[in-house]
Amino acid sequence: MASFLNSERPPVFCPGCTHKNVTEALDKALQQLGLAAQEVVIVSDIGCSGLFDTFFNTHALHGLHGRALTYATGIKMARPELKVIVTMGDGGLGIGGAHLLSTCRRNPDLTLLVLNNFNYGMTGGQCSPTTPPDAVVGSGFLNRLEIPLDVVKVTRAAGAGFVSRLAAHRPELADEIAKGIEFEGFSVIDIWGICPGRYSRRNKLTPKSLEARIEALEKASGPVAENVREEYGAHYRRLAAGQEPARPPRPVKAVFEPPQKRPWRVLVLGRAGQRVVTAGELLCLAAMTAGMHATQKNDYPITVLRGHSVCELVLSPEPVDYTGIDVPDVVIALAPEGVARRKAVFQRLKPDCLVLRDAEVSIASTPAEVLAVDFRKARIKAADHALAALAALAFRNLVLSPAMLKAAVEHRFQGAVRAAALAVVEAMSGGG
Ligand code: SF4
Repeated sequence: MASFLNSERPPVFCPGCTHKNVTEALDKALQQLGLAAQEVVIVSDIGCSGLFDTFFNTHALHGLHGRALTYATGIKMARPELKVIVTMGDGGLGIGGAHLLSTCRRNPDLTLLVLNNFNYGMTGGQCSPTTPPDAVVGSGFLNRLEIPLDVVKVTRAAGAGFVSRLAAHRPELADEIAKGIEFEGFSVIDIWGICPGRYSRRNKLTPKSLEARIEALEKASGPVAENVREEYGAHYRRLAAGQEPARPPRPVKAVFEPPQKRPWRVLVLGRAGQRVVTAGELLCLAAMTAGMHATQKNDYPITVLRGHSVCELVLSPEPVDYTGIDVPDVVIALAPEGVARRKAVFQRLKPDCLVLRDAEVSIASTPAEVLAVDFRKARIKAADHALAALAALAFRNLVLSPAMLKAAVEHRFQGAVRAAALAVVEAMSGGG
């Protein structure tokens, strides 16, 4: 079978770099498996191992440092038929450490080649998470302060289904990579290599001494019996198939004429507990029953039942390109918290703007027309003030009509909640 190596961009590494061995072994493994180029994706990390995607005539993705496993997982979930191989250095492995652990825990069918040469080679030989404490590196004494990460121990403990460790010059490397690719689950191959460009200039490291170090550690060659289990994507699809399918959104039928065929920018200033966001949604739905476009932008803090709740709503016969509001046409002021949040807006209002305010809520002086509504006189609970304010507009045939609002309520709610909301709307028929 023909080589997968890109003849237009032959692999170039520093003389003696064992990344070349890994490049050739991966090429050989792909050939052994009889894969077609379009069946393979190489996701490379950053650094010298990040050059791999350009050296192979396969699909490729080169992204942010430490994140290669996240991209690879997404690719594998979307296209399970592809063989996805990730090349990362020991530096990227540390930067994306949480992603490594998550991938081990999940067991997606990915093959991770860790090109482990104990330093950040490309950036000048700084210490990485696998640098031995006695090494001399380009970042001073920092490696003396840390315990090197044992990739085998960590990935086994985290749940990787297949874990191997061997030196990059070993003749069986291609076979080991092929086994990893064939394994249905997450395979990690910790490939120890030599970086003559940076690391072995200051640290004596030969194939023999490398092997002696590996020999002294826990052996790792293939499936990890206690971690072998169903592959993540297959498991996901099996469980997802048993779930109720998500209901498609119900279309809103455009059956009414709007009272005014023009854009409206409506700002609702309330507080938590007044169902401001739900009222905003109802106003958007009401606009849609008249064939208008609608956008909603909410602003509230993380607190529950406390703090401001503000909605910016844009309704328009034309598509809405921007969801924010600089100068509203209508302001609904329902609570001091929301009014304080947007206190500057009142000065900007034009004389033809309308402020509909709760009779008990004070606002700053404004050139706009101000209409006070007494929700208490209409026996409206605080939680319904926002809906009641919409009804007050509707019964003035301003922005929306009562029929539009009732249709929105009927679309949004069912049963007792719908009946209660319709009763709030009716209670405002006298104008409030
Ligand atoms: S810097 Fe090190 S890892 Fe990078 S190409 Fe040179 S020898 Fe290889």
